[in-house]
Order: sequence, then structure tokens, then C-alpha cells
Amino acid sequence: MSYKSCTCDNCVNGCKSRPCWGTPGDIKKIISAGFEKQLMLDYWSDINAAVVSNIKNMPFDDILNDMVDSIIRNEVDIIAPAIKGYEYEKAPFLPIGECTFLENDRCILHSLGLKPLEGKIAICKPNSDNNYDHPYVAKLWDNDDAKFLIEEWKNKGKYYE
Ligand code: SF4
Repeated sequence: MSYKSCTCDNCVNGCKSRPCWGTPGDIKKIISAGFEKQLMLDYWSDINAAVVSNIKNMPFDDILNDMVDSIIRNEVDIIAPAIKGYEYEKAPFLPIGECTFLENDRCILHSLGLKPLEGKIAICKPNSDNNYDHPYVAKLWDNDDAKFLIEEWKNKGKYYE
């Protein structure tokens, strides 16, 4: 299947506000192509779903404890295209910023056939919907093979935690 390259405001703003995520297979191909140092360790936590479902009538301290528990219990590590300045590092707590693969408003992975899944299917979505698929992609990283890939990637060079 081929995917079009688009430079409309929605698409470019998506790449400028938060890098797209891919499957472990997508990321493996990007690593094999030699771009491993332009990736970062991002994470997914279903904190919102967990906390919002319990938040009614809870004292503030309990809400905070519940949030911390949710992060610890539900966090899934994911290798993703890096935010500029976070190459081969852990993503910031709020992983917002321009993708390192965006050059002159174009994704350099596109013509190489290496664009991650969310980038492929996010064509022309408004910016607010840019991360629409994160919960689904995160599930693909919640297994031993994906965890092994992450460890292999970290061991390729001087990964900065
Ligand atoms: S990898 Fe490409 S499509 Fe995805 S956010 Fe970066 S520049 Fe955009």
C-alpha cells in the first residue's frame, strides 16, 4: 500500500507538535536503516482512564496516590521518533515538540518507505486528533518481544536515560 506525502497545515503541525508512533516492526526497520540515534524512549500510560473512572468523591491525596499507582501499573515503554533535542534519550514527561525526522516541513522517512503507522494513517487529521491512535499502538509494545527490542536498541550506543 502506498501513502501520500502531505504538506497541509494539519499534517505539518502534527509533526511539529508530537512525533507519530509506529509498531515495533516499523521501528525495527527504522533502526535497521541506521536511524537508531534519532529515536527516543517514549511511554504510554492509561492514567486518564484509570483515574477518571475512580475520581468521584475521592480526597485529593487519594487522587494523587491513584495517579502514581496508575503510572506505575500501566506504563508501557515505546521507542518512537525523537523530539528534536531528545535524540537517543528518554522523552520528556510531556512529550511535546517537533519530530527530528521533519526537515523543511517534510518527513524524511516517507520517501524511504519507513514512515511509522500513525504518520501513515494521520493524513490531514486536525492537530488535536494527532495522537488518536496511541492507546492502540501502545498495546503492540506491551509484550516480551517489544521489551527485548527496546533493550537491544538501548545497548546499541550511549543511550542517555
Ligand atoms: S516520523 Fe515523519 S510523519 Fe512521523 S511525526 Fe516524524 S516527520 Fe511526522
